[in-house]
Amino acid sequence: MTGREVLERLLDGNRRYLEGGGPRAVEQTAREKLVDSQSPMAAILCCSDSRVPPEYVFDAGLGEIFTVRVAGHVVGTSVLGSLEYAVDHLGVPLILVLGHESCGAVKAALAGGEAHGSIKGLVERIKPSLKDINTGTEISQEIMETAVTENIRYTQHQLQDISDSIRKKVDAGDLMITGAVYSLRSGEVNTV
Ligand SMILES: [Zn+2]
Repeated sequence: MTGREVLERLLDGNRRYLEGGGPRAVEQTAREKLVDSQSPMAAILCCSDSRVPPEYVFDAGLGEIFTVRVAGHVVGTSVLGSLEYAVDHLGVPLILVLGHESCGAVKAALAGGEAHGSIKGLVERIKPSLKDINTGTEISQEIMETAVTENIRYTQHQLQDISDSIRKKVDAGDLMITGAVYSLRSGEVNTV
């Protein structure tokens, strides 16, 4: 399948989820088939938020999606290494960067307050994506929506800018990188 065909399949899964589809029962035979190898159709880089589990959101079964999750879907070495594995060794034709409405990590980066511990490093990785956003005195819903979208686009660009192997696959037409935003309220996924 091409990256575009895989994206359509994921969005079909999201439609099933919207119609009330839930997590699938996994039969022992399905587990056994996957013991020796995996062949996921897509890699999904997603925020860790408990309200955005990709297997639910895309009604995906065991072995279908290779998922990398980190708050604010920020790009670091471990994230890149995981995605390079999915691209180079598992041959996925699509990386989907999935952000979401009201992302707490994005909100923290917008608010600009002092974060403690390792959260500080995480928030710092989001800030460059928000450099053109003027927050003013309060963070409106509109500003949050813009910030979430900008952070998704920034992550998409970073994957290609930092990783040679990801960029080469994109240039060769073997890999598509797409961004999408998840609505906490409706459950809908829309590409950005
Ligand atoms: Zn989030």
